[in-house]
This record gives sequence, C-alpha cells and structure tokens, in this order.
Amino acid sequence: MVHSRWQIKSLKSESKLIEKKQVIVEEEEDTIEERSNSEERSHLLQPVAKEYEGKKCLVLDLDETLVHSSFKTVSRPDFVVPVEIEGHNHNVFVLKRPGVDEFMKRMSELYEIVIFTASLSKYADPVLDNFDLHKVIQHRLFREACCNYRGGFIKDLSRLGRDLNHVVILDNTPASYSLHPSNAIPISTWFNDQHDSELLDLIPFLEDLAKVDNVVEVLNISFI
Ligand SMILES: [Mg+2]
Repeated sequence: MVHSRWQIKSLKSESKLIEKKQVIVEEEEDTIEERSNSEERSHLLQPVAKEYEGKKCLVLDLDETLVHSSFKTVSRPDFVVPVEIEGHNHNVFVLKRPGVDEFMKRMSELYEIVIFTASLSKYADPVLDNFDLHKVIQHRLFREACCNYRGGFIKDLSRLGRDLNHVVILDNTPASYSLHPSNAIPISTWFNDQHDSELLDLIPFLEDLAKVDNVVEVLNISFI
C-alpha cells in the first residue's frame, strides 16, 4: 500500500496521539496502584488471612488486661522473661490473669485475635512468645502503632484496616479507646487477684457478640 505524504503525516500524528494516550493510561494506572499501596501501607494490620475471613476482630490489650508483669521478684510467676534495657539484662516476672488460657483458646475459635499494647516490643514480644500457648494471636501491635496524645498512648482502631462495625477492643485503660468508645468492652485493671473471673465471665457475651451484624450497636446499648 502506498501512502501519500499527507496520509503519512496524518498516520504519524495519529500514532503519536495513541502513544500519548497510552502514557496517560499508564500514569493513571500507576497513580491508582500508588494510592492503593499507600492505603495498604497505612493500615496497621495485614489483610485478613483466609481462615479468618468473615470473623470479627478482637483487639486485646496486654498489661493489666491479660497479664501483669513486674521487675520485682514475685513468688510463683507463670513465666520469667529476660529483657535487655540499656545494655543490662533484667528479668521480668509475668503473672497471667486467671482463666486467660481458656479465654484465648475460645476467642480464637470465634475472632481474629490482635494484641494491641502500648508497651515496647522488646518487652512485649518475648512476653507474647511465652504467653501465646495455643498460637492463636494473629497480629501483634506495639507502642509505635499507638498515637501519642497528651503524653498518653491511644489505640486508633480506624487504622487497623478492618470494618469498625466488626472490631471489639478489650482494654483496662479507657483512654486507650477514647477515639472509639462504642467498640469497647471495659475490664478492670488486674494485678494479681487470683479470685478474678472477669475474662471467663466475658466469654458468653463475646460468644454472642461474634454472631451479631454490628458490634457497635450492641456495645452502645451494653456499655455506654
Ligand atoms: Mg493495660
């Protein structure tokens, strides 16, 4: 096929236009990808694992909710964890709240379990290694995942990357969940009372809560 000079010129400019359009489309695709990557990066949790799809997310505080730790020697600790602080090794003596193993086992059957602690990972990580007997904790979030507000640490549940209507937080410090009081179940601060039964007492309620459409509606009525 023989093209006239005009036709060649027109074909060239057409192909340039197509090239330009291609670049624009690719740039748009890059922008969309960047946007979704940055949204994913800003989430504190990885996407839900397949086995937890459809389950709600139970966010648990660690200290004085599930355990109490002390640098002072305590008689009959549940376990002792060596922690290095400023070049010195310290033993941390850890007591588990009564019923906590049963509580964790049952909750893991119903919820995706997240530990969200304002403690430093160099302490909390080895504590959780010992604590998580049944390997049921899906995610661990430490101090750097908290927001600093007026010298305190706040747990911003909207950063988790989960539907807030399906997120429940159990924490002995109400300030931690001050951004999302409607997602919270209060629990008393625990140090060493061996007669405490709050975790076990909460199991039936959390069993029911796992089945509702919207936890916020239920928690608003129950605790606010
Ligand atoms: Mg606490």
